Amino acid sequence: MELDEVAGGVFWVEASHTNLVLVVDGSDVTMVDSGYPKDRGLVDVSVAEIGRSLADVQAMVLTHGHVDHKGSAERLRLDHDVTVHCHGSEVRLARGEIKQQISTWELRRAWRPTIFRFAVNAIRHGGLRPEHVTAVSTFADGEVLDVPGNPIAVFTPGHTEGHCGFYLPEKGVLISGDALVTVDLWDPERRGPQMIRRQFSYNHDQAIRSLDRFVDLDADVVVPGHGEPWRGEPREAVAMARRNA
Ligand SMILES: [Zn+2]
Repeated sequence: MELDEVAGGVFWVEASHTNLVLVVDGSDVTMVDSGYPKDRGLVDVSVAEIGRSLADVQAMVLTHGHVDHKGSAERLRLDHDVTVHCHGSEVRLARGEIKQQISTWELRRAWRPTIFRFAVNAIRHGGLRPEHVTAVSTFADGEVLDVPGNPIAVFTPGHTEGHCGFYLPEKGVLISGDALVTVDLWDPERRGPQMIRRQFSYNHDQAIRSLDRFVDLDADVVVPGHGEPWRGEPREAVAMARRNA
C-alpha cells in the first residue's frame, strides 16, 4: 500500500491496483472509492495510518460502481454506519443490477502476459465476487456534497453511465476517477495522464467528450482511479489524455 498527502488533509492511497482517497475535515473523513473487496485490510490500515478510525469515516463517495472501486462500501455501510453516495445514474451498477464491465471474451481476445497478470490480480482480490451496495444516497451533477470536505460532483459519464469525478476547490485537487487515469492497467510501463482502455468503458467516445468537464477546473493535482497522482493543471492532463485516446 502507498499513501501520500497530496494536499492538506487529502490523502491518496494505492490499494492493490485501485486508488482510494481520504478527505479529512476536522476529525471526520470522507472516503472516495475503496478498492476491490479483498482490499479491505488495506482500506482499514489506511484510515489508521492517517490517525483516524473507521468510526470517523462519515461517508463513502463512489466515482462509479465497478467491483474494484466499491469493494468495502457495503461492509462499511453495514458495520460502521457509513452512508454511501453515488450519482443517480450509477445506482443500478452500484447495486449490481447491471454490469457495464469488461467481458471475459474481450479479455481473451486481447490476451498477453501483462493482461494475464492484471486478470490474476483482479481475481485474487475478489474481482469475480463483487460486493454490491444495497442502499445508496444519490447526488446530481455539480452538487456540493454534504459530507466531510464538501467535494463537488463532476458528472463525467462514459467509463460507466453515472461516473463522476470530484473537485475540491479549496484544496486544489481534482479526483478524476476512471475518467482520466495515469497508468495503463494492461501495460503498467505506460504512465502519465491517459484514458482508461476503451475495452473497460461502456462508451469510450462519451468518455472522451466528458473530459471537457475537467478542463476549466482550477487544481494543481489530479488524483486518478488508477496510477499515481499527477502534479499539474487538469487542462494539461486532459490534453495529454486526448493525444493518445
Ligand atoms: Zn477502475
